Amino acid sequence: MIKKTLLYLSFPLIALMSCNSGGTDSKNNRSGSVADDAVNTGFKNYSDQFVTALWVQEPEWATQMGYHKFDAQLTIPDEATKQRTLAFVSAQLDSLKAFDPALLTPSHQTDYRMIENYLKFRQWGLQSLKEGEWNPATYNVTGLIAFMLSENYAPLKNRVTDCYKRILQIPAYYEAAKQQLKNPVEELKQLGIDQNEGGLYVLDKDFIDSLAHTDLSAQEKDSMRIAAQRAAAAVKAYVAHLRSWKGYTPRDFRLGKALYDDKFKYEIQSSLTAEQTYTAALARKQYLHGEMAGISRQLWKKYFGDAAQPADTLALIGKMIDTLSASHVKPDGFQAAIEKQLPELIRFIREKNLLYIDSTKPLVVRKEPAYMAGVAGASISAPGPYDKGGNTYYNVGSLAGWPAAKAESYLREYNHYILQILNIHEAIPGHYTQLVYANRSPSIIKSILGNGAMVEGWAVYTEQMMLENGYGNNEPEMWLMWYKWHLRTVCNTILDYSVHAGQMSKDEALRLLTKEAFQQQAEAEGKWKRVSVTSVQLTSYYSGYQAIYDLRETLKKRMGKKFDLRAFHEQFLSYGSAPVKYISELMLQQ
Ligand code: ZN
Ligand code: ZN
Repeated sequence: MIKKTLLYLSFPLIALMSCNSGGTDSKNNRSGSVADDAVNTGFKNYSDQFVTALWVQEPEWATQMGYHKFDAQLTIPDEATKQRTLAFVSAQLDSLKAFDPALLTPSHQTDYRMIENYLKFRQWGLQSLKEGEWNPATYNVTGLIAFMLSENYAPLKNRVTDCYKRILQIPAYYEAAKQQLKNPVEELKQLGIDQNEGGLYVLDKDFIDSLAHTDLSAQEKDSMRIAAQRAAAAVKAYVAHLRSWKGYTPRDFRLGKALYDDKFKYEIQSSLTAEQTYTAALARKQYLHGEMAGISRQLWKKYFGDAAQPADTLALIGKMIDTLSASHVKPDGFQAAIEKQLPELIRFIREKNLLYIDSTKPLVVRKEPAYMAGVAGASISAPGPYDKGGNTYYNVGSLAGWPAAKAESYLREYNHYILQILNIHEAIPGHYTQLVYANRSPSIIKSILGNGAMVEGWAVYTEQMMLENGYGNNEPEMWLMWYKWHLRTVCNTILDYSVHAGQMSKDEALRLLTKEAFQQQAEAEGKWKRVSVTSVQLTSYYSGYQAIYDLRETLKKRMGKKFDLRAFHEQFLSYGSAPVKYISELMLQQ
């Protein structure tokens, strides 16, 4: 995954992605007419203006993207803010109408569509989804304060002072939040309680500790300490309010088909509908089970000799996966194993000529910072679009202090095979490589409004692409384990749609994940929790993957012997983090 810190209501799910992009700025647009220079200059001016206006409107998001002019402001989630946002959206949609997309360069056309989609998504969110009325977890400011205290973008004293100004507004923020909530979803109420309570340490401890490391006067420090105490009291009052809220009819945690279909349309921006994507995922699951059964039968003798094979196919696959999972590193060797693999991946890609790897900006492997929730695993933190020189980090969770059984279960999951696939996905040539490419072009729109399905889809696609090109020596073990890993993204889509657009029960979900996707009970329970507090995001991995794979196969068929895999990858990545459907249009028209 890419680390995202969602702070306030529903802006599209992208935050810490670096990026910038634009694609090849050729003059020929999709309608074949020649792009008009004056129109394009006008559009560029418009989009610059849009971004500036956006940050005035969304100061918290601006902070995370590395734009620090409004770091002292906190948006109070009241009716006035809602009306101001709606006015902003209609004004911007009006301005967009002045441009004929057919006269824009491909890069500007894509920017146009991404801005338009963002604005309509925002409008729909406030007018139809109305998450602020039923999701108590959307109200949380401690993550923002933690981010400002730990990311080193300015001297600590400045950051602390900005935090203080935001902290002063926290009581008003939670008062407004209480007013907005009407019929909280039970599961989201609990999440709101857990996350707000879990973030209290930021005000109680982190902020107070940071004060001590500045040369602010004793008087200033006193005022700041008092403000932090008041803010913490406001968070506690909000939590108490949620806890004591009874005697109402909670909203169902399921989104319902109508809202789900719309959210999918805006968030995924696929050329398929949600239902078509779900149907494709079901077929993919069948296909994967067939492949996995074949490999398991082939491997049986090697691992089990003459012992009888389970008659049930899923049981056979499960036993094989279980056996292979025993091959894993020791708890304290996790980070070192990751560090050792990265140069090997680069060497493989160069040897096979799969795509150009820029090695001037190395990836820094680090232990996951404490404020990133402490969920062990791995993720990429890229600098914001205003901080192109910043480091890109590969955050690796530490297993230190874990009970032995928990660590063992985790290491079995990230075993010898899966750990390599994880590195391909997160780092090279997955997320990290994609970000390096995206950073090259000048369009900031594709960076701040980047499409999550394209980003995740690319990472998933590269796993398969590496194996297809012989990574792991074509060992059947590697393929089997990849299929298992890939089945997870496929089942994420099936699960999400079945739960939110249908009526899938928890028992049915756990059966799908443990029996048909070979997940451990704990992992499956965790996934159920995730699907009951999020919607649509879980479909981004498979949806983006399938769109990229289909594009490649279409081009292969069309170009025959002239198809060049490296050229395909480099061109695909040159458009930045745009929705795959727009990239496909541009690549297919050539
Ligand atoms: Zn990912
Ligand atoms: Zn073990």
